Amino acid sequence: MNTKFIPLSVPNFEGNEEKYVNDAVKSTWVSTGGGYVTKFEEKLAEYVKMPQAVATASGTAALHLALIVAGVGRGDEVIAATLTFIAAVNPIKYAGAEPIFVDCDDYLCMDPKSVRAFLEANCEIRDGKTYNKNTGAHVKAMMPVHVFGNMCDMEALMDIAAEYNLVVIEDATEALGSYYKEGRYAGKFAGTIGDVGCYSFNGNKIITTGGGGMLVSNRPEWAKRAKHLSTQAKADEVRFFHDEIGYNYRMTNLQAALGVAQMECLEKFITVKERNYDYYVQALHGKNGLEVLPFRTDIRANKWFYSVLLKDCGKSTDDILSGMSEAKIQTRPIWKLISDLEPYKGAQCADLSRAHYYFERVVNIPCTTNLTLEDAAVVADRLLEITE
Ligand SMILES: *Cc1c(COP(=O)(O)O)cnc(C)c1O
Repeated sequence: MNTKFIPLSVPNFEGNEEKYVNDAVKSTWVSTGGGYVTKFEEKLAEYVKMPQAVATASGTAALHLALIVAGVGRGDEVIAATLTFIAAVNPIKYAGAEPIFVDCDDYLCMDPKSVRAFLEANCEIRDGKTYNKNTGAHVKAMMPVHVFGNMCDMEALMDIAAEYNLVVIEDATEALGSYYKEGRYAGKFAGTIGDVGCYSFNGNKIITTGGGGMLVSNRPEWAKRAKHLSTQAKADEVRFFHDEIGYNYRMTNLQAALGVAQMECLEKFITVKERNYDYYVQALHGKNGLEVLPFRTDIRANKWFYSVLLKDCGKSTDDILSGMSEAKIQTRPIWKLISDLEPYKGAQCADLSRAHYYFERVVNIPCTTNLTLEDAAVVADRLLEITE
């Protein structure tokens, strides 16, 4: 029996993390000033091939800023995902707008067919703007989430966005490093296809700064305004001139020091994620009624999280969680649908049958970047044992 605890997803600090953080401490630049913030922004921008990136206190803050610079405000509506982390949707409410929940595809990402079906049945275009006929509200944006490092069908979503004149805010918080290999967006990273893209460096993400985020935009003036808003909209460094209502949303130099070190490891992390994913597929896929959900074949995925589908193994997600936990292996169920959570009950929804299907059947298994193949074998053996 396994005696060692195997966590789901924990940080991996094998690089220059301590060195850079110590350097930041010694310099006394621990807050939002200091060289690491700019350095981290430059490194990330270069990596995702964008001219500029704006470092924020969290991914949630980046998403909130994205909505503000996109002009989403009180009374507007935004097309949103339901099978994802609640932080992907809360910023819509911060901005005073309302989400419209749509279904996922078989990669757990926003389904273009569901988006189109909702728009066709409920909306009309007037003066180049999309209005919801049920509420009279202006549907201004869509926020596709690249779930677990997979990518949304961006060709189809961008076509719909062009047709209905919607701003596209990509939640790429789980997909740093994923990019299209083929098609119209070949070479384009998650987060760089729509109008704005957001990343997160929370503790369980592929790279971490403890907490932190980043925003990129194909509209240089939007990125500039996001940066301005993140520092209390300070228009003059010295004289306390603030020209609009800003936020304390800037990343600190301590966080950025970690970020610079983690960026140096990102490609190495993805290699390990790929290796362990391939192992799980070979060990589990098609056995005992289990499937390992695929990543799109037209992308290079960062393979951040692995999803096991309890297809017809006769066990519930709770059965798996408790069986794995007895063996000291941490697993988790996929998120409860946001549209079923208390704060969002009564929100407008498309048909969400796929999301319900996956909600009931998906568990995530250990995927840390220092997970050895031996650990992965322990995980797979235990899963097979309890689904025997
Ligand atoms: C992690 C995450 C966020 C929020 O990022 P934080 O840095 O934790 O604020 C938003 N959306 C999704 C889908 C996430 O997984």
